Amino acid sequence: MKKLSDIFEKRGLALERELVKVEKCQNCDKELKTFRMQIIGGSRNGEWATVTEECDCILAQQVLEAVNRTKLKFFRELSILNQSIKQATLENYIPNHESQIIAIKKAIEFIEKVSKNKQARMIYYGESGLGKSHLAVGIEKLLEDKFYKTALFLEVPTLKQMVKASWTKDSNYSELELMKAVSEADLLILDDVGAEGITPWTKELLFTILNLRLSKSLLVTTNLSLSEIYMEYGPKITDRILENMSKQDMLKVEGNQSYRLKNF
Ligand SMILES: [Zn+2]
Repeated sequence: MKKLSDIFEKRGLALERELVKVEKCQNCDKELKTFRMQIIGGSRNGEWATVTEECDCILAQQVLEAVNRTKLKFFRELSILNQSIKQATLENYIPNHESQIIAIKKAIEFIEKVSKNKQARMIYYGESGLGKSHLAVGIEKLLEDKFYKTALFLEVPTLKQMVKASWTKDSNYSELELMKAVSEADLLILDDVGAEGITPWTKELLFTILNLRLSKSLLVTTNLSLSEIYMEYGPKITDRILENMSKQDMLKVEGNQSYRLKNF
């Protein structure tokens, strides 16, 4: 950016100014000078004013944040949460079993990884009603609100309708945009895998989505056991779901079935 003084000096106008102080940009440490200078022209002609140089980095950051806000908005619109789970956060998850305490610890580790742009992959499995989706929503919210990461929460049972809806004229998004979001999200959450009414088409869809997430962050919740996943989906899909997961990333959530009734 051209400095004001250069513009004036080029035109033979020596700008009266004195250096008041030099501070560092809080954002990038670049030196920013504050001058006292005389105003030339206009209604305040001849007056003295204090002017601090602005750092370009803040503008660049504002542009980036605006882009991310738009992106986040799109991801929020795609992530349709059902009413009962909208209020879920990690703070209001009440564990009543050791595995649920471990599940929270794993959630925090998981968030840390994604927030640092590291690949994180995890599966919460076990019987229904133990708050696996609650944990997933809590992870999504923290990543979005605290770290400005884009997380896409897809309820697998409604995925079929989402894709079909994308084919209609008045849809807000195309199938291509949906798949682009699936691919580009910092985190994809596949919630309730196995509850979708498994057909060759839904299997194909799941396989496509899992392929788009190879070597990227993925969180899966399912009421199926790992062997049931294998039996229902076969080796190809199971392999993609468990890609880059070690034993610690496959977390069986157990506990008292009254969980859902107590909290919602
Ligand atoms: Zn700066």
